[in-house]
Amino acid sequence: MTSEKNRKGKIEKAEEPAGKKKRNAGKKRQLLEAADGKAKMDLGILGGRVYLNGNFAPLNVYVKDGKIEALTSNVFPCEETVDAQGLMVLPGFIDPHVHFHLGVGNNVNAEDFRTGSIKGALGGITTYIDFLDPVKRASDVAQAFEARSGLADTSFTDYAFHATIANPTDAPEDMITAFKSCGITSVKLFTTYADTDRRTKDRYIYQLLKASGETGIQVVVHAENDDLIDHGKKIPVSEHESSRPAISERTEALVLAEMAEETDGNLYLVHMSAGSTVETLKARHIGALAEKRIRLESCPHYFVFNRDVYSKPDGYLYTMTPPLRSERDRILLCTHFDAIDTIGTDHCPYRKEEKNHTYTSEIPMGIGGISYSFQLLFTRFGSHAIDRFTKNPAQAYGLYPQKGALKVGADADIVLFDDLAPFVVSDENSVYNGMTLKGRIESVFKSGHILVKDGVFQASDCIPKGRYLRRT
Ligand SMILES: [Zn+2]
Repeated sequence: MTSEKNRKGKIEKAEEPAGKKKRNAGKKRQLLEAADGKAKMDLGILGGRVYLNGNFAPLNVYVKDGKIEALTSNVFPCEETVDAQGLMVLPGFIDPHVHFHLGVGNNVNAEDFRTGSIKGALGGITTYIDFLDPVKRASDVAQAFEARSGLADTSFTDYAFHATIANPTDAPEDMITAFKSCGITSVKLFTTYADTDRRTKDRYIYQLLKASGETGIQVVVHAENDDLIDHGKKIPVSEHESSRPAISERTEALVLAEMAEETDGNLYLVHMSAGSTVETLKARHIGALAEKRIRLESCPHYFVFNRDVYSKPDGYLYTMTPPLRSERDRILLCTHFDAIDTIGTDHCPYRKEEKNHTYTSEIPMGIGGISYSFQLLFTRFGSHAIDRFTKNPAQAYGLYPQKGALKVGADADIVLFDDLAPFVVSDENSVYNGMTLKGRIESVFKSGHILVKDGVFQASDCIPKGRYLRRT
């Protein structure tokens, strides 16, 4: 319930671009009508602590036609209200790095877009970005887009795609034109995996970075120095980390950062695994990091585990690339959390029996974790985690302010989070099983529709399907 004091408050609106002032005048009229009972809001989320520009404000959030209509301490008539007393009211989370229905070799991972979007919703994720299959030519982009779009049709939540290239034969400008025609403004590449012809060479990356500055696209890189990696077929799990050592990430990240600075390009490094990489980048490229010309993503698992798990009998369950690092590198990563712009899960789970092999060459790489990513980080960093799941990925990938903020006019993707409740992970398929985390995701709304209530996914025909987010 809203307090008497709140009822006397005045309408407050989130800041908007100057060009929208005229529209706001109309909106204000509409709100006054609503107050008179002439028009009802679809949904009111009342009395919570609303996350606005890095702070919390005691406001009500009103939703109309799937969008946030007002952020105010006033009380308006609503079709439906939700009592958010004592809860944080947060923008829906964005996972900028997932792999649903990923096929590598003979394996397809154990997550499709339907199940992945449900598990994401349980973790507060209302928007995610998946990847097109790798292409070499501009003429192959449309087909890769169609194939992935067909699979994503079952998603409950909104999504975008990164394009992926593998040692392309067409010029960067031609590739970028093809991506943009599919509504894609980010392109992923690998500096490793030469053995499967997925490595893109430095000369091409340099040209692509140059073109990225001119066209506004984001160059998304999996950074490992391929020449420092042991590509042997008989590497036991216990040697997974030493076969892809932290120095391979650090040296590659430095080369890429130098090229980004030289070209004025837009560089986004995915899944930073070692704190020493981040520390080194800060020492040399602090300006570019601060201005977000270079952005760093990391994943929950690198903050939680270290490489010691590879010596355990079930070490194969923790295999991903890049691998988990030393305890020193894990602690350093936590120390340099300020330089991490976004958290992506790199969600790519496989069944235990698929991963249970002796040598890393036999194991499909990747782990799950999309349902717990926010709480894993919130447990360690509190409210500092929020922007890394909301505003930052939205801004990095051209989704802001439609996504990533509680603003008037934004999509009504909203998470109600009980930051004081403990949460124990109960999921036998998860490496996080049994962990006690801080905070519980109570409710999740997507475009004003309830997806998760009391921590349970609401399967309903009334929920509109997830939409593809075309970017420009
Ligand atoms: Zn990935």
